Amino acid sequence: MSQIPPVDLGRQYATIADEANAAVLDILSSGRYIGGAPVTDFETHFAAYHETPYAAGCNSGTDALFLGLKGLGIGAGDEVITSTFTFIATAEAICMMGATPVFVDITADSFNLDLDQVKAAITPKTKAVIPVHLFGRPVDMHKLMAIAADHNLKIIEDCAQATGAAWGDKKVGAIGDVGCFSFFPTKNLGGCGDGGAITTHNERLLAEVKMLRQHGSKIRYQHDVMGVNSRLDTIQAVILNIKLRHLDQWNKQRAAIAQRYTKLLAGLEEQIQLPTSPNGGTHIWNQYTLLVKDGKRDTLKAKLQEQGVSSMIYYPKPLHLQPVFLEYDYQSGQFPIAEECSHQVLSLPMFPDLSEPEQQQVVAALKKSLTEI
Ligand SMILES: *Cc1c(COP(=O)(O)O)cnc(C)c1O
Repeated sequence: MSQIPPVDLGRQYATIADEANAAVLDILSSGRYIGGAPVTDFETHFAAYHETPYAAGCNSGTDALFLGLKGLGIGAGDEVITSTFTFIATAEAICMMGATPVFVDITADSFNLDLDQVKAAITPKTKAVIPVHLFGRPVDMHKLMAIAADHNLKIIEDCAQATGAAWGDKKVGAIGDVGCFSFFPTKNLGGCGDGGAITTHNERLLAEVKMLRQHGSKIRYQHDVMGVNSRLDTIQAVILNIKLRHLDQWNKQRAAIAQRYTKLLAGLEEQIQLPTSPNGGTHIWNQYTLLVKDGKRDTLKAKLQEQGVSSMIYYPKPLHLQPVFLEYDYQSGQFPIAEECSHQVLSLPMFPDLSEPEQQQVVAALKKSLTEI
């Protein structure tokens, strides 16, 4: 019996090894390791992929969020509404700006922002909302953009887990004021190290982000505003340029794997709730995440591990209950859906090269475990 990892990046590398090796060796021998044509090429392709006029690379998804917020002028005294059920980076970026994160609950069938609660959380200080397309599942962007228009709010899309996902006929990251992407290796478009990018329709915002990522400088050694050092490395850009050409195919493979899990796991609804795809959106299945009922999640996870199946918990604690946000005085029980999900979520192995026999092994282990717990 083979060990099945949650994600196997080595297998994906093997499928592009010849191309990737040649491209990286070219960079090594060129002596140009920062900037250059590979980075602008990638920005051009990434913008074209999203049908946005502009994209700009940066050092990470966290920086993409930070640059997007700062470029839009979000700062001290502003409130930014986001999901309590996300990776810390979403809220970190808000705090880095000196703004206040305002958390709201999710819906259990989407793991995404409850948009009615977003509406209810709007105050005169609210300047922006960060929808997180969690696990690759897009937020209902039509509904959110209507709320934003009514209340004059900026929308910063956290697309870190959702490159290629769409709402209607538009890709996520091309709908709000700015799209923020991470190329951390395990994301569905991942480099071989850290990396990130923003996409936008707003030429002024692009100029602002380009200045901020380069020490607040438009002209070399003249610094107009306080910036940071946040560049997409040349080596990452060549890798991402290659991977971007395969992304739609890989996302399709993920969707096929998700569909197969859903088919093979039918009939277990009393013990587990399966993830769904939204009407009106394209899910790219960065994760296939179950809800395990009756407090049995941790036992199930251990049983799966005994049978060679590694599963993951994203996320064990919602942000409103994290020690770092104690000052905002959120209470346990305040966002019951996110809190319940944090005790029930379990993500199964999911990567484009996961084979059918491996999936069958995962499902067999899961079914066997469910009869024993
Ligand atoms: C990974 C991730 C980020 C941060 O991206 P990094 O490249 O690791 O900085 C932000 N938001 C979400 C939802 C993520 O999953």
